[in-house]
Amino acid sequence: MTEERNARIAYFSMEIAVDERIPSYAGGLGVLSGDMLRSNADLGIPIVGVTLVHRQGYFRQILDSKGKQTEKPEDWHPESVLEPLQPIVSLALNGNTVKVRAWRYWIDGIMGHKVPVYFLDTDLPENGSFERTLTNNLYGGDPYYRVCQEAILGIGGVMMLRALGHDGINRFHMNECHSSLLILALLQERVGNRTLASVTEADIESVRQQCIFTTHTPVAAAFDEFPIELATKILGADRVAALEQTNCCPRGKMNLVSLALDCSHYTNGVAMQHGKVSQQMFPKYPIHAITNGVHAATWTSPPFQELFDRRIPEWRRDNLYLRHAIGIGLDEIQETHLAAKRLMLAEIKRANGAKFNETSMILGFARRATAYKRADLLFSDLDRLRAIRQRYGPFQVVYGGKAHPSDKEGQVLIRKIHEAAAALKKTIPVIYIENYDMHWGKLLTAGVDVWLNTPHRPYEASGTSGMKSALNGVPSLSVLDGWWVEGHLEGVTGWSVGTNEDSAPEAEVASLYDKLERVVLPLYYARSRAFAEVMRSSIALNGSFFNTQRVVSQYVMNAYFPKFGSDQGALSDKSADSEELVGRK
Ligand SMILES: *Cc1c(COP(=O)(O)O)cnc(C)c1O
Repeated sequence: MTEERNARIAYFSMEIAVDERIPSYAGGLGVLSGDMLRSNADLGIPIVGVTLVHRQGYFRQILDSKGKQTEKPEDWHPESVLEPLQPIVSLALNGNTVKVRAWRYWIDGIMGHKVPVYFLDTDLPENGSFERTLTNNLYGGDPYYRVCQEAILGIGGVMMLRALGHDGINRFHMNECHSSLLILALLQERVGNRTLASVTEADIESVRQQCIFTTHTPVAAAFDEFPIELATKILGADRVAALEQTNCCPRGKMNLVSLALDCSHYTNGVAMQHGKVSQQMFPKYPIHAITNGVHAATWTSPPFQELFDRRIPEWRRDNLYLRHAIGIGLDEIQETHLAAKRLMLAEIKRANGAKFNETSMILGFARRATAYKRADLLFSDLDRLRAIRQRYGPFQVVYGGKAHPSDKEGQVLIRKIHEAAAALKKTIPVIYIENYDMHWGKLLTAGVDVWLNTPHRPYEASGTSGMKSALNGVPSLSVLDGWWVEGHLEGVTGWSVGTNEDSAPEAEVASLYDKLERVVLPLYYARSRAFAEVMRSSIALNGSFFNTQRVVSQYVMNAYFPKFGSDQGALSDKSADSEELVGRK
């Protein structure tokens, strides 16, 4: 298979959303991984994807009328959508041999290039009953389960690539640190028959030249860290001795972010600001920034696909041409958006029974329900909101998002939205879509009129759903965090909530209400052509840039096959002065 022999890069991610039929993703990280691989396929990049099969998915969210969440397994059948592969690799975990097989999914690029994605699976009769469950639940189980999963992804993944004949792969991109145990497999390849405990700095350096790490969160509590005793029990003393040669294990913990940082030659955050925040968190390592994007064709609604195909035929092959949306007439933009809005409303009516009015403004907010995303900020002052509705015109709100089963605060947020919806019932229709997923993501980001985002700064590393909206001519009303710091041009691509300085939550709430009543609602109802200009600029300015075609090109130029020293363009003060770099060039 030529693809297999030619592949140079492996992209590892605990979740990859390749297809609506495969529920093996939780949210933004998985969607981004899928979008990255789709653009790699479009661009003909010699890359493969590696993930776990997650036979029970993340979970299916059930909400009762008060917004109380319960979870059910999202059982699906790999054999109905994936192709089983022959090789079986074995690794030792806690002294037991665990056998791993892979399923393959092909992503078809627009010019005919195909990118394989390998879904690793331990549900084999040869394995013990516990080992068979190790690839069932995404982000499930206890720390023991998680270390086993991460060993299967990282170590099992590299072994599987070699068993499949991918000998030419010498770039390993860790999308988040869940896969960073792959470093152990690369060290093992390097030392051959020597014991892993004998690795030297030269061995680590050779591995470092092959590794790229993308960090996705500035929330230190979210970093994967495990007691060293647990790591030793599962991985064995030799592997842990090798880990201890790196800087991964300070304070008696195996920290997988430290491991990835220490053993990668290129590390980046996922937006300009996130790069800077990460650089402050990890001052010892140069941290770069490559701002996230979305796969344009995947996230453009059918009505806009049809419009772009007609007016900008090059857009699928070269997303930069979306810039030419600036030449599309405002009427066409409005009509096309209305078609996307109707598609969403029809699906909402079917699923939820709710009837929204297509002539009044709809705000959308959907993403993982977790505290820092502050889904309830809009409902801080219900009386003020009712007053805005009476004076400046009607609006409706659509919500969606799952909370991780152990994220109690996230679950409380969902209940709060339901409480607010009940309290506002007579004046402002608010609905919460159950089981938010890619299918709903496509409908909502394209079908609402304004995309709302109110994270607690600076915790939104990037955020991507506002980028999906931009492609569909839906402007954002958002806190200046993550990608919006770069994408926001006031009154041109959307509107800010609060300022770029540290602002108190009360000030952000006031700003949100002020913008709604003074700017957004008046523009929507009284100056709809001016509103349509904002819609059009969102596509032309932001759709043309915040896409994964640009992101993949940046990884190729800066991380996979860079020309210059690895710390060029790093965000540390040291390289900002760039004395040394100039000398080195
Ligand atoms: C795009 C997407 C996300 C990520 O949204 P953010 O704005 O990055 O938080 C999460 N879930 C689904 C289903 C998505 O499509």
